[in-house]
Amino acid sequence: MTYSHWSETHASKHSVIMDKLAHLNREEVIEYFRFENMVKKERDFCLLYASNKKCHEIENLNCYWCACPHFRFDDAGLSRHNEKTLYSICSIDSKDGAQFESANALHQDCTACLIPHREKNIRDDFNRSWRTTMEKTSPSLDKINH
Ligand code: SF4
Repeated sequence: MTYSHWSETHASKHSVIMDKLAHLNREEVIEYFRFENMVKKERDFCLLYASNKKCHEIENLNCYWCACPHFRFDDAGLSRHNEKTLYSICSIDSKDGAQFESANALHQDCTACLIPHREKNIRDDFNRSWRTTMEKTSPSLDKINH
């Protein structure tokens, strides 16, 4: 599955949940998306829920953004670097980000970064539309906004 395909699927899942939560305010929505609630009520939202696992073993993990508005990617490649294709970067160069390198590719490695899972960050840049929040991440996401 390409990242674009994952994004498209995820945007739809997020939208279905948000339609269901139309009566809740921002704080209530953020609370609903806490891991402990989502793993019980929205089993299909994340593959890890089936095994009751978190993507980051931290307290107060919030799944509202799952993906990051600062991520930038292009499945066709952003640029070329010494025979390797760079597929993704962090637009804010988070100190907790890293780069994963394979034989032919360079990818942003967000494994150690908690920015998209912190409620303060979600609250500060809250939008009820996941698509709108993520629209800068890739030119291909722009296409699925319509
Ligand atoms: S390193 Fe952190 S802020 Fe940067 S794209 Fe990854 S999760 Fe987002």
